[in-house]
Parts: sequence; structure tokens; C-alpha cells
Amino acid sequence: MTSLLAQPDDWTEPGAYPVVPGVYRVPLPLPMDGLTAVNAYVMEGRDGLVVIDPGWASPETQQTMQAALRQLGHKPSDVRLCLATHHHWDHYTQAYQWRDELRINLLLGWEERHSIESFFRSTSRFPNHAQRLVRCGAGDLAQRISGTAVPDDEAEMPYGLPDEWLHDGDVVELAEGTLQAVHTPGHTRGHIVFRHDEAQVLFSGDHILPRITPSLGFEWAPEEQPLRSFLRSLKLIRSQPDAALLPAHGPVTESAHRRVDELLDHHRERLEVVLNELHAGARTAYDVARAMPWTRKGRRLEELETEHQMSAVVEVDAHLDVLNLLGRVKVEDRDRTRRYVPVKKSA
Ligand SMILES: [Zn+2]
Repeated sequence: MTSLLAQPDDWTEPGAYPVVPGVYRVPLPLPMDGLTAVNAYVMEGRDGLVVIDPGWASPETQQTMQAALRQLGHKPSDVRLCLATHHHWDHYTQAYQWRDELRINLLLGWEERHSIESFFRSTSRFPNHAQRLVRCGAGDLAQRISGTAVPDDEAEMPYGLPDEWLHDGDVVELAEGTLQAVHTPGHTRGHIVFRHDEAQVLFSGDHILPRITPSLGFEWAPEEQPLRSFLRSLKLIRSQPDAALLPAHGPVTESAHRRVDELLDHHRERLEVVLNELHAGARTAYDVARAMPWTRKGRRLEELETEHQMSAVVEVDAHLDVLNLLGRVKVEDRDRTRRYVPVKKSA
């Protein structure tokens, strides 16, 4: 197992921190409530620097990155290649701005094209969620979110297609060793993690986070079964040699496998909780979501912000889809609403 170099107590503290020799972690600030920072990772390529996930396009990001690069004896124009793990603002937009301004090459997973293309076609912030929520039996919630327009600052975000698409198995040459792209759909359809086998580290993006479970299918053009994909992607990483976990949010840790096991356990438990609510009489995803406790504090669904209520109901729906695939529930579609009945286990 690789031993990681010491990191500051607060993982969000700005700077350039070597994680293993030649790989630097650069935390960048985020303008969001929940997630306070995103980790960019900087390393030497064959021809200039390679940066993974250089953050949310903003003057704060640029200043923080510039200071970190200066610490390493570099400047932004020394960067030749940006790799984004997925298309979300906090991973992709600064890279997109650099692509325009500094002509830095930008690569992104091929399956991300659906959501990027759909972003330019949609006027609503959540173009697909309203319909999904109706199916979940949450018509009132669907109504509340359907009017949400794309906020002005997001509509003006530097955004568009990358220079090149990444596919599973693609290799990026570094000064020492290589990065290998692994397609890990779930958080988004085209999410990519990067293995650096020589250094025994895994740049896990938002696929594997050390402290939180990533949202699933939160994108403009989600796939049908994001939870199924996510669980498959976790098992894929579990089947490959273990490596240190270098996530996009949160501190670096020694073992990606250990965290994968925790996430798989978490979702197994979650499936049981959802199934128990069906046994207790819940029939729709909305019924289940309203009966279940949420967040670490065990809050009720109604106490969450509207957007979080939406994510919660969609998450339950994803678990019900998986229970259906496992043959643990029966599905009945009526009046645009999907109802679930638990299948009795045969003795
Ligand atoms: Zn993120």
C-alpha cells in the first residue's frame, strides 16, 4: 500500500500539497452551501502540466490556482492539458474557460455529451425531474420545481463541448507513468476516474467520496438506471487493484476499496429500508421518501429544501428501480404514477 504524504487538518485550506511524489492536491473554493471546496490535482505531463478537475470558473478559483502553481514554480500557461471527471460546474467550467482563454486542451468522458447538449436546449433548471416526480407520486413537488429557471450566473457559465472525448481505457502519458481513464457511470453518465498505477493512486472525482454518498443522475439528461450503474461502477473499482483514494471533495485516504465497501453497505442498507417501508404500507417513491428519515439528523422530508426533497424522492425511486431489477418488488403503472408492492419471499 502506498503511504501518503502528510496533509493539513483542514483539507480545504488553500495551497499545493504533495500527496505522493509528483502529484499535488490543490483545494479550490466553491460558491456553494454544502460543498466548500473541490480538489484539483496537478502533475507533470510529457509536455507541460496536467490538471484534473480545475474547479468552478471564478476569479477566486483562478487566484487560488495561480498561487498554488506559483508555489510549485509554475503559472497557468504551463498547463497543457485539463482532464475533467465529469461535466458538473465545480469540475469542468474553469477548465472550459482556460480552454477558451489559454488554449489548454480539455478532455471529458464521451457519455457526458448527452447532458451538455441537453443543457443548451433546455430553459428549465430541472428539465427531466418534473416528469420523474409525477411517476413517483410527488405531483406537488413536480409543480414546485417545474418553474425553476436556470439562474443567470449559471446560464452565463463558460460551458460547451470539450476538445476531445475520453473513452474507457484511454491512456494519458505523464512525465512518469500514465493515467488510465476508467468509465464509472452513476454520479453522471459519463463520469471518468483516473488510475495512476505507478503511483498507486486513484483520482476518483465524485464517484467515490470519503465522507458523503454522491448524488446520482443529477444532470440534464440522466440515464434510466443511475443507481444500477453506480453500484456496477463501484464493483468495477473493487475488482481492480486497490489504490489510495484521491477524491474531488474531502481528504485523501489510504484505500479506495475500503470506501467502496462502505458505500456498497450503505446502499444495501438503504434498499432494505425502502423495502421495509413498502412492507409497512408505502406504495409510491414519494410515500417511501416521506416515511424515511433524512440526513444524519434524521429529518423529515418536508423539512428539507425543495431541491433536496426532489433529490431524496429521486434517490428512493432509483432504489425502487433496483429492487425491481432484483425481483424484490412488483411494479404497477396507473394514472402516470408507479406503485410498488413487495414480492413475498417463497419459503
Ligand atoms: Zn463535485
